[in-house]
Amino acid sequence: MTHESEQQLIDWRRELHSWPELSGQEVETTARLRRWLQQADIRLADYPLETGVVAEVGQGNTLIALRADIDALPVHEATGLSYRSRNSGVMHACGHDIHSAVMLGAALQLKAQEDRLPGRVRLLFQPAEENATGARRLIGAGVLANVQAIFGMHNEPSLPVGHFATRAGAFYANADKFVVRVQPAPGSDSILIASQIIQALQSLTSRSFNTLDSLVLSVTRITAQKASPADAGEAEFGGTVRTHDAQVRAGLAQRAQQIAEAVAAASGARATFSWHPGPPVLINDARWAQFASEVAQQAGYQVQTAELHLGGEDFAYYLQHVPGAFVSIGSASAFGLHHGGFNPDEALIAPAARYFSQLAQQALQQLAARCPDSLLN
Ligand SMILES: [Zn+2]
Ligand SMILES: [Zn+2]
Repeated sequence: MTHESEQQLIDWRRELHSWPELSGQEVETTARLRRWLQQADIRLADYPLETGVVAEVGQGNTLIALRADIDALPVHEATGLSYRSRNSGVMHACGHDIHSAVMLGAALQLKAQEDRLPGRVRLLFQPAEENATGARRLIGAGVLANVQAIFGMHNEPSLPVGHFATRAGAFYANADKFVVRVQPAPGSDSILIASQIIQALQSLTSRSFNTLDSLVLSVTRITAQKASPADAGEAEFGGTVRTHDAQVRAGLAQRAQQIAEAVAAASGARATFSWHPGPPVLINDARWAQFASEVAQQAGYQVQTAELHLGGEDFAYYLQHVPGAFVSIGSASAFGLHHGGFNPDEALIAPAARYFSQLAQQALQQLAARCPDSLLN
């Protein structure tokens, strides 16, 4: 990549960063991405999408997909950067501006060698990752048709630039939420009952499941009010649950509900438990994860095996349909994801763009060798 095109990626990233848009509202972001891709003579694919862009490079039946997410968060930016958010209260605090710049760079590089590509690369600039609706929207629009493998990335603030991590099998978590409402009964104390339920739920994670299972249950908010000491009051609390196994997930949801209802009933009150499923566990294909790591090694990354991640990531939905791998690339931010001070190091962009271009080419070669176009025609 020339110095000019590396600078171009940084300029594009900064422009995206200055004008962040919330999930499902990425109208200007979509317009910018379309314009930049078209300027590079990259063809846009026509799918029924309100926001988000799908583009393609190359020819033929061998087809893989690369995915970037494009949405931002309702966070006040506190970085003080010259290109900080100009949409007040909205910030690219998860680095999806970086992911978009990386995949734009990969698209440019693939375009530069389009004649020699042994197949086609479909680039997905996906909206609405943060509310876990975008991947399903794209899948519903048909973007995975004929796709044989899919790859994506998230920047990882805890890793230095130049570091790469992924793992075979379960990686990101089932990221679910729950809400418990304690309904008052005469003579009972909803606030006390809510705190008893919270304690019981905490011990549930340590006692009822195998300690080798990854499982985090965290109460993240509570609201309660009593008009007087004698008032039964009302209480509601909510939290998140992170697991990496479908059975543990289902078992936990069921047990948590039983506990909430039983603890409330013991005091003559009633608890209503609602479960709000988030993105499912992200499961990397073992062979593609290994392949992605090997290409990273060749590209000069320090490669390591990732730990189980406690975050949720809607890339998981693509992997329910098509094999592939999701990878972490170091972004060396002192503040973590979703924090107003989050500031990923832009130095990751150009090498990651080269990496995804290389990964796409080698994956196409691999697939073309396994299953030549001539056999599919
Ligand atoms: Zn995020
Ligand atoms: Zn993210």
